[in-house]
Amino acid sequence: MMNWAAGTQCVAKGDHRKPKPGELAYHKGDILTVLDTATAKGCYKVRHNTTGEEGLINSNNVREREAISVHPSLSLMPWFHGKISGPEAVCELQPAEDGLFLVRESIRHPGDYVLCVCVSAEVVHYRVIYQDNKLTIDNKQYFYNLIDMIQFYSKNKGSIATTLLKPKAKEGTKSAELELSKSGWLLDIRKLTLGENIGEGEFGAVHKGDYMGQKVAVKTIKCDVTAQAFLQETTVMTKLQHKNLVRLLGVILHKGLHIVTQLMTKGNLVNFLRTRGRSVVNGVQLLRFALDVCEGMEYLESKRLVHRDLAARNILVSEDGVAKISDFGLTKMDRKTSDNVKVPVKWTAPEALKKEKFSTRSDVWSYGVLLWEIFSFGRQPYPKMSLKDVKEQVDEGYRMEAPDDCPPAVYLLMRSCWKQEPRRRPSFHRLRDKLDGEMSKCLQCSAAEERDESRSASQC
Ligand code: ATP
Repeated sequence: MMNWAAGTQCVAKGDHRKPKPGELAYHKGDILTVLDTATAKGCYKVRHNTTGEEGLINSNNVREREAISVHPSLSLMPWFHGKISGPEAVCELQPAEDGLFLVRESIRHPGDYVLCVCVSAEVVHYRVIYQDNKLTIDNKQYFYNLIDMIQFYSKNKGSIATTLLKPKAKEGTKSAELELSKSGWLLDIRKLTLGENIGEGEFGAVHKGDYMGQKVAVKTIKCDVTAQAFLQETTVMTKLQHKNLVRLLGVILHKGLHIVTQLMTKGNLVNFLRTRGRSVVNGVQLLRFALDVCEGMEYLESKRLVHRDLAARNILVSEDGVAKISDFGLTKMDRKTSDNVKVPVKWTAPEALKKEKFSTRSDVWSYGVLLWEIFSFGRQPYPKMSLKDVKEQVDEGYRMEAPDDCPPAVYLLMRSCWKQEPRRRPSFHRLRDKLDGEMSKCLQCSAAEERDESRSASQC
């Protein structure tokens, strides 16, 4: 029997058509959300993702949802064929079944697209005009992106000759929608209620939401090119499950890409520490956060995955105060930009800044900076130094001083993370070991302090 956490999505291995009272009926392949694993021996309480019904299931009758293989041809727009001519599009669409379609880039009007669709054995070419940041065929319906447009004309004929019935996939591409749906990661927009805005990322806004009774965070990426890049990285998240990584619940394809994750009600670690400060958060809690992140990174290290953007702003805090790493798997794409504008200089190891050599050991460097942020209660690293100065001085051997009241052993760990030579930095496994030791000492001290306090209180 697997020991799954509440919120895990699983897939039914077979049918269960005649449930006893309290049990749930389901079919093979149905996706279920685990609500409680401790209700009865060998049983889970689950919610059916389609019907919303709740009930008990035998835990042996479900399996974990499969990860999606990261396939470069996994496409949100398999029907997009890029720059091909009209006659080439006609060839692609043979035999010309009604409703078979593709989209191509216009050769004659660069920047515009053409929707090619078969009607009565002919191929009709509709020019899609890009106007005021929106796309339109008829100057009546406007769309933010091609995905939106195809979704609309797949349901409505509008002013074109037929609804779009069947995409002609570009050779070598796989439909992301189909793959996501088959593996159970595609969620249904109709079951989502969007709430207030809780954050703004570089590529889209983050909203609170409710997905069939579960509190979630929804990141929306409207631009289809960015969405495609995010999709590749989101597939990485389908492979990873750890208590210190923000869990992906699934994605929704509707007017762009919506990435649905568990809601981390206490927001990011920087704001958490800044707004509470020393009077509220004690040393044990700071160490707990450091350990949480280290355990998550140890797991990524074991999977040979490099985060590249480890920083307290990318650590989120759950309702019960657990720190979890977010944006893992989502960050690699901005590093591909040729200028270094987006590289978080103050967190990035020298070899990664200079030679783009990102590795687990460059993540360890960033972790050292993150430790510094934790023990300084969310201060900006290298206070008052410009990025240029940080780059130059760190290269010459300058390192930040210990934050006020930072335990010396923790500062020593930071310094070990900031060794110039990547090989001399500790692994996350080693760091976790050291932090565990520090935590035991810290807990013993605070227990002794409490004993002293209660003794002096009783003497008074
Ligand atoms: P990117 O650069 O990848 O767009 P980002 O690091 O700038 O991302 P987001 O991941 O988009 O930022 O998140 C922006 C803010 O939204 C976070 O700092 C956090 O406050 C909030 N947020 C994001 N995800 C969640 C979540 N799962 N639960 C609660 N709040 C979240």
